[in-house]
Amino acid sequence: MTNSTIPLLPEMAKIWQQTLNWQPNEQQQQKFQQLYELIVLGNQKLNLTRITDPQEFWEKHLWDSLRGIAPKGQFIPFLSENAAVIDIGTGAGFPGIPVAITMLNCKMTLLDSTRKKINFIDESLTQLTLSNAKTCIGRAEEIGHHPQHRKRYDVALIRAVSNAAVCAEYTLPLLKQGGLSVIYRGNWTEEETKSLQNAVNQLGGVIESVEQFTTPLTNSVRHCLYLRKVVNTPASFPRAVGIPTQNPLS
Ligand code: SAH
Repeated sequence: MTNSTIPLLPEMAKIWQQTLNWQPNEQQQQKFQQLYELIVLGNQKLNLTRITDPQEFWEKHLWDSLRGIAPKGQFIPFLSENAAVIDIGTGAGFPGIPVAITMLNCKMTLLDSTRKKINFIDESLTQLTLSNAKTCIGRAEEIGHHPQHRKRYDVALIRAVSNAAVCAEYTLPLLKQGGLSVIYRGNWTEEETKSLQNAVNQLGGVIESVEQFTTPLTNSVRHCLYLRKVVNTPASFPRAVGIPTQNPLS
């Protein structure tokens, strides 16, 4: 496939408006299209995503990424005011790149442990002329102790990286006090909220809300967990590389 044979993404202005009270401007729509093309082409060399159909890409990558930063259907207000945001385990750039395109005033850090993916994103950021986003190669367990990253972020995003307790351990140490962690999930139950509580408390956070919603084209169930950092995270977290996933907090 070449650029000229890649289909156009749908615009979905009405759905954006109805679900997020927002619509992409022309420049943002253009960047979404460019991102889609970069990913379809990049997929020929790298295994970036199995979602390449234009409607599916719109729903599962673009809409889903932005719905996470819009609890109760409104964008988190301070995201438009120089907020420092990190996307942990960004893979091909989700949810971080669509968020950076939408919130041009936020400063986005895209973290992944895989060099190949980060190289792809670096190239994409140049092509997209997105100057408010930068990349970082590393493991969440390590950068969580790095003074440049620990307690530096207003918002931490994490989608499809691990179970919720692990996501909490990766995100909370990076947040400033008062910062917000957004954990993107598919299915989620109240039981799981109960059993996550203790892990979040140990990390200095509280579960502020859990939102259930359905995606607008295929009505697939999604959840977002919003954790607020209320006190300092103990220095022992995050634990060493691999430990959080081997032995999730409970
Ligand atoms: N967030 C993207 C990609 C999910 S795949 C999306 O939703 O589409 C999970 C990604 O997390 C992979 O790219 C993997 O390299 C990265 N990852 C997993 N564990 C990590 C860790 N401990 N630190 C940093 N990146 C990690």
